[in-house]
Amino acid sequence: MNETHFTFTKRLKNTFLEVFKDTGDLHFVAVKSQPLTNPVFVSINNLLCEKLGLDAGVISSEVMLNLMAGDLSEVNLQPISLVYSGHQFGVWAGQLGDGRAMTLGELEVTGSTTEETQLWDIQLKGAGTTPYSRFADGRAVLRSSIREYLCSEAMHGLGIATTRALCLVNSETPVYREEVESAATLCRVARSHIRFGSFEHFHYRNQPEAVKNLADYVISRHFPDWIDEDDRYGNLITHTVGETAKMIAQWQAVGFSHGVMNTDNMSILGDTIDYGPFGFLDSYNPDFICNHTDTNGRYSFKNQPSVGLWNLNALATSLLSLLPSELLVDALKTYEPTFLQVYRGLMSKKLGLEEYRDSDEILINDLLALMAENQVDYTLFFRQLCYLSEDQREVRNLFIDREAFDVWAKVYLQRLEQQDSSDSERSAVMLQTNPKYILRNYMAQTAIEKAQQGDYSEVNLLLEILQSPFEEHPHANHYAGLPPDWAETISVSCSS
Ligand code: AMP
Ligand code: MG
Repeated sequence: MNETHFTFTKRLKNTFLEVFKDTGDLHFVAVKSQPLTNPVFVSINNLLCEKLGLDAGVISSEVMLNLMAGDLSEVNLQPISLVYSGHQFGVWAGQLGDGRAMTLGELEVTGSTTEETQLWDIQLKGAGTTPYSRFADGRAVLRSSIREYLCSEAMHGLGIATTRALCLVNSETPVYREEVESAATLCRVARSHIRFGSFEHFHYRNQPEAVKNLADYVISRHFPDWIDEDDRYGNLITHTVGETAKMIAQWQAVGFSHGVMNTDNMSILGDTIDYGPFGFLDSYNPDFICNHTDTNGRYSFKNQPSVGLWNLNALATSLLSLLPSELLVDALKTYEPTFLQVYRGLMSKKLGLEEYRDSDEILINDLLALMAENQVDYTLFFRQLCYLSEDQREVRNLFIDREAFDVWAKVYLQRLEQQDSSDSERSAVMLQTNPKYILRNYMAQTAIEKAQQGDYSEVNLLLEILQSPFEEHPHANHYAGLPPDWAETISVSCSS
């Protein structure tokens, strides 16, 4: 076996397979990958390599490239695809499952400061069909893989819990969508790939033992301290409720729209997962719908918090065999206060307030209403607000109705006077809270078009700036302004 393979693969465990192999193919199926033809690396995520203790040189080797392109002929790994079901757009969709994803194993990573080891799922997305592919081809096009690769890192850079990706591979394998495109693979790295829909799957099949075994697996892997506790299942749902509330509050504060908040796209740990037709807000618009197939706007920007709760309800229902309904309801009741607490905290911080006061709700709501009316760019506004004391004109000029902004700004400045911090102190905190760079659709599109011509430099440039979105990156200043006019013509759907 090749040395480079060895260093990587010898660290891969497969606890999921070990735990569930005796229950037949109830929880997963063993699969075979279908390698891509003439693979090339589009990008390697050096930051993540470092975090996982992987040598970027090893990852970039020829043998690793082949492995990442789905050629497992030289390694001794048994990839598996997980089954799950889910509610899609509010309707029970029945069985889904990893139709184009396979977990190669779980990488054991020892923390530098603690004795604790953590397992990270290493999953290939786009390496061929699985028994859950239904009528699809098991492939992922370069376009959507670039979007997922960049956005998951952007979210991580913004401090939002998310899956990540180790590398992105392009190939000469053709895929047929509206037109012929090239097939890619993404190596997704996640603390867990278990979804709300994983639990729903067994609940609706009337397999309570399987629901319990799955919950026990999650607890033993992620919350070993709870194993012997009577309220471990209650802890689990409460934890999922809290983390989901926090994640969605962060989405709202940063202006992120997921686009396909089906229960099969919701992680049991509250990590952002399954990037498809997502979008960041350009101008502030609470009715923003990023997925053009979502004609009713079920997953519009402003609906995300309530959809989060709807999805948690679906999860809680699937745990009815484990917990009395009153306990599930108690857990669900923590959603709204957690969401509001995190959201208000984040919005206050964006405004440079040291703490949230009840009266700040009006300040925040008035601002958002004004931004919506004036179609003010969400990210640009908050970034420029960091410099308010130096230059009030620039932020004011973002509004059509500047007098209306002046009225709001007067109240805001009075509020700032009630705290002790200096302008420069406030500005410094705000600059670490309000990103300079987000992944606007047009940026991803620019990188995609270049990559489709074989030039991967823009993917790597965007990766670099999005991994530290609060920093300046002067060479990428052109990505820090308003989107160009053509951005409005980009349409994103589920086709990927
Ligand atoms: P998504 O909308 O990406 O979350 O996918 C919904 C379901 O469709 C999941 O079960 C996916 O695995 C499956 N799926 C999406 N695209 C493909 C594809 N090209 N081949 C096989 N399965 C797919
Ligand atoms: Mg999905």
